[in-house]
Amino acid sequence: MKGNVVVDAAKETISRHVKLTALLLVTIIGSITAGLIPPLVLEWIINALTEKSELSLMAIVLYFILLSLSGALDAGKESLITVFGQKVTHQIRSMMCRKLKSLPADYYTKQDTGTTVSRFVGDVDTVETLFTSGIISMAADACRIFSILAIIFVKSPGLGVLMVLVLPLLYLLTRAFQKRMLAAQLDNRQAVGRANNHIPDTIRSIRTLHNLNKEEYMENRYDTYIQEGFRAVNRSNFYDSIYSPIIIIVSTILVAVMMILSAKGGWLMAFFGMSVGTAVAIISYVGKIFGPLESIGMEIQNIQSAAAGIRRINAFLSEPEKETPAGTADSQKDNPPPIQLQNLHFGYEDDKEILNGLSLTVNAGEHITLIGRTGAGKSTVFKLLLGLYEPWEGTVEIYGKKAGNIQEMERRTLFGYVEQEFHAVPGSVQDQITLGDPAISREEVLKALDTVGLWSTIKEFSEGLYTPYQDSLFSQGQIQLLSIARAIVSDPKILLLDEITANLDSDTEKRILEALQEASRNRTMLSISHRLYEYSGGRYITITS
Ligand code: ATP
Ligand code: MG
Repeated sequence: MKGNVVVDAAKETISRHVKLTALLLVTIIGSITAGLIPPLVLEWIINALTEKSELSLMAIVLYFILLSLSGALDAGKESLITVFGQKVTHQIRSMMCRKLKSLPADYYTKQDTGTTVSRFVGDVDTVETLFTSGIISMAADACRIFSILAIIFVKSPGLGVLMVLVLPLLYLLTRAFQKRMLAAQLDNRQAVGRANNHIPDTIRSIRTLHNLNKEEYMENRYDTYIQEGFRAVNRSNFYDSIYSPIIIIVSTILVAVMMILSAKGGWLMAFFGMSVGTAVAIISYVGKIFGPLESIGMEIQNIQSAAAGIRRINAFLSEPEKETPAGTADSQKDNPPPIQLQNLHFGYEDDKEILNGLSLTVNAGEHITLIGRTGAGKSTVFKLLLGLYEPWEGTVEIYGKKAGNIQEMERRTLFGYVEQEFHAVPGSVQDQITLGDPAISREEVLKALDTVGLWSTIKEFSEGLYTPYQDSLFSQGQIQLLSIARAIVSDPKILLLDEITANLDSDTEKRILEALQEASRNRTMLSISHRLYEYSGGRYITITS
């Protein structure tokens, strides 16, 4: 991944939406200009009033038109910046979705749950704020501040000098307030989070707490969290309430100093002096300069957090991808076996090797059982076959193709995996079998259910296949059958069975073995077992570590 994702996405957005970009620029320039002119018209009106010259109605109408126009352009600018920001984040999310598809399966096992989600949600959102209240608005605010300063300099050079001296100090003050307010808000959020978690935690362990006589302890902890939250909110409110008065006092002092100095006469008068109208205009400008100054503080904050988000998105987009199998030596082999493991070394932790040099070839249609003590690494072999982990050394090939390079869709037609434990997905009974894949037809679902002998049970449910799934709908043995139906529905070439007959009574076990016999017909099958079963009818491989 070369360059920066945001710059690329912004360039792409600009080239795709030229009109939107042009309109955005026009509204930004328009809103700055329209915001600057009204005080000048006001100056003109007041000068006309004080000099008792004729006041044109046009000037007053113009003043109000300009005020409305400035408001309208401001609103337009905000909306267009938001639209532009959303288009850029749409681009970034699309780029990330494409990336997601080309990541090898072991990426997901290496990442913490939620990390990828936070890349898509939190990090991309910071990029959106980069546009909505970051660089674009910061540039607009900076332009506004400089234009106002320029006008003040022209109208009253003395005040201009004063402003240039005071503005940096005010900026530092504003940042100090903003940082303290943000820290207080963060403290409050954490305290609220702790208090909210405390309630379900207490309810969950209510019997233990009652037995150990710990009610008061829990109550006091709850009180502490609430107090912490309360103090943090108070701190935030305090800073919020004193900030505006400080700014108003400073601007009043500035104007007062200007007035006093201009009233002293002499060169000071030339430096500070002005007409009444100009004074009104200047006061209006001084008031207008603090708004953008305050915004710039927040915008810098947003840019900083966006920079961190962008770094994480760039890192995500630079993750190594699945190798493209086309044209590699792999695909040139004639008739490669369904499964070939060569000199496999693997462990989950660096210093703990679980598989040390396993080699195994499973030919088409062969049924093989892996046996070995608990913890020997039998399920681990399956995870490597599915490409969920990369081996330390050696190769895992499925029909001659590296396991980690197999695409999602292809994996579903290659493997039917019956896990040691059934993991239900949210949705109906049918969804448990299709996993929400619309490509699997109702006929295929019915065929799979028929093979495992579950259709007669499901048929009796109130909504048949569409009944919302609950564990209580099925017995333990029926859940195993459902798991087999899920594995065979996409008509996979290879069936992987992990210890599926453990903890079952002999009747149920018999039913499952029958179902498996049916399901494994014409398929390559690798099963894991503590015991040896008839259905395998093939070789046994002992896994030792
Ligand atoms: P069983 O017969 O009990 O199912 P098994 O042969 O299937 O055992 P595996 O599940 O392959 O054993 O586990 C092999 C070893 O790897 C065990 O010591 C286990 O604790 C460890 N292990 C399994 N999964 C992980 C993981 N995700 N992270 C770290 N260690 C793991
Ligand atoms: Mg296991």
